[in-house]
Amino acid sequence: MTENQPILTSNDDAVYSRTAPQYVAEIRPNAPPYQIQQPYQGSPGFTSPPVYVVQAATVYGEFPVAAHCHACNTDVMTVTTFNAGTLTWLSSGIICLVGGWVLCCLIPFCINACKDVVHFCPNCHAVIGKYNRLG
Ligand SMILES: [Zn+2]
Repeated sequence: MTENQPILTSNDDAVYSRTAPQYVAEIRPNAPPYQIQQPYQGSPGFTSPPVYVVQAATVYGEFPVAAHCHACNTDVMTVTTFNAGTLTWLSSGIICLVGGWVLCCLIPFCINACKDVVHFCPNCHAVIGKYNRLG
């Protein structure tokens, strides 16, 4: 029996020898240290079709979004402001027709949910996009 073979006891528990296995590195003086792999050329006579990357259009909503500013050519998180839009004026007119109190028709101008949203670039303050409540 050699030193590296397990020694089995009468309880069938394996007791291994305490000497670590010996590994010998094979040194070849003329071989390169690594194997150079040629890049994949594809099959001859076949050209791969061009790959087009389609970037999804940014959807502007009520909250700031990550967008690309074409004015300063950077990717930014937009800054939003609320402006009175079609829904604001329409809501105000409906309140007046229904017979709301005198100043109740001004309530839609105080509620951001009734206003349109304008997205600005925080760097150059250019208008990047708009969100209209009614289309
Ligand atoms: Zn900008």
